[in-house]
Amino acid sequence: MFEALGNKLQDILDRVGRESKLTDAQVKTAMREIRMALLEADVNFNVAKDFVAKVSEKAVGQEVTGSLNAGQTVVKLVHDELIETLGGESKQPTLKTDGNVWFMVGLQGAGKTTSTGKLAAFYKSKGRRVLLVAADTQRPAARDQLEVLAKQVGVPVLKVADGEAPQETRRRLDEYLRTDYRDLVIVDTAGRLQIDEALMDQLADLQTELAPSETLLVVDAMTGQEALNVARVFDERVKLSGLIITKMDGDARGGAALSARSVTGHPIYFAGTSEKLTGLEPFYPDRVAGRILGMGDVLGLIERAQQADLKAMEVKKPGDFDLEDLLTQLRQIRKMGPLGDLLKLIPGMSRALPEGFNVDEKQIQRIDAMISSMTAKERRNPKIIDGQRRKRIAAGSGHTVQDINRLLKMHEQMKDMMKMLQRMSGPGSKGMGKG
Ligand code: GDP
Ligand code: MG
Repeated sequence: MFEALGNKLQDILDRVGRESKLTDAQVKTAMREIRMALLEADVNFNVAKDFVAKVSEKAVGQEVTGSLNAGQTVVKLVHDELIETLGGESKQPTLKTDGNVWFMVGLQGAGKTTSTGKLAAFYKSKGRRVLLVAADTQRPAARDQLEVLAKQVGVPVLKVADGEAPQETRRRLDEYLRTDYRDLVIVDTAGRLQIDEALMDQLADLQTELAPSETLLVVDAMTGQEALNVARVFDERVKLSGLIITKMDGDARGGAALSARSVTGHPIYFAGTSEKLTGLEPFYPDRVAGRILGMGDVLGLIERAQQADLKAMEVKKPGDFDLEDLLTQLRQIRKMGPLGDLLKLIPGMSRALPEGFNVDEKQIQRIDAMISSMTAKERRNPKIIDGQRRKRIAAGSGHTVQDINRLLKMHEQMKDMMKMLQRMSGPGSKGMGKG
């Protein structure tokens, strides 16, 4: 998918050409492609339409200046507008010094309970005294699930009883807080597979009683087109204040985020990036904009590399990215763990790896072994690796020629992606950061 979109954006760049002012025809051509790209990223149809109309207006007659050509100017306009639509800067929920009550809502399976645990871990690490309230009385196991998470995090949990009235929950919560001081209470609620009137009434009643300072809708990034509807109905019934988008570690490119944000206007505070308690990150509109356009979350990768104090992850010049660099990167990635999360951030990587590839230490070692079996000349200039050499490298590293082919293909794809990113990150663009 990354590849297809990469080509698409490349087409736009080529077709739009290098004029100094954007013409009607150019903008039209480009916008058709952009609309397709948005739909492929699962952005809601109407949201995509409105978005394109808005960008078109800005684009026509736009001066093409500096080192950007017309094509790059269009892509930059689209990218900037996407960031704007996704909320601009990364935002955090409001936290008063005391008396914070957050209400988690969303469809069943969206990731409410998991996100509740993640938030508890996140804010506990920031010195907050967190209490979780298990208010999902729909499914018997739901409260236990939250309790397990609470134990892992090391925070207390207050369980709502079956059929308990909201007033009683309020009373029990107040009672609890009198004996054990807590400044952040996060309430995990019940969801249904579909929006359900009776459930919405229950939710609204509990919300009225607890008067939360934030009501956060948890949206599964895989929801696709439906995300718009879900967000709209929840916003109407329980007046949201913010969004959390989960499962951004999957294949979904973020269209659901754009739809939900654009229909409610509420900020997206966090992105869920794994099933684990640590899989919660602030939501960065600029990165997700890149992802929606199919550029991969290269910034995320670079940031983590920097966190691990590894500057070499920033590649010198994309065209010069050779197998030696790939090897260096892999070896560093290995030190940075968790591998799965990291590898998925490398554009082209997930699709280039074999079917069912489970990213573990062993797989990295295999790639390491293959590259290590090459001569320095081969690593610097993979083009010279012909059939004969492939056979030799395969034998030398204990792999098949197919394995070598796959590795070389993956390297090519990564290189292409890097070149494209470089082209798009002209001066003033939020593309590659330090690139
Ligand atoms: P709830 O019904 O809304 O409370 O959803 P749960 O919190 O029980 O999550 C449903 C499933 O999604 C579980 O298997 C979670 O492990 C999984 N899940 C939740 N958030 C994420 C995420 O950010 N990434 C991934 N990969 N899985 C997630
Ligand atoms: Mg749940």
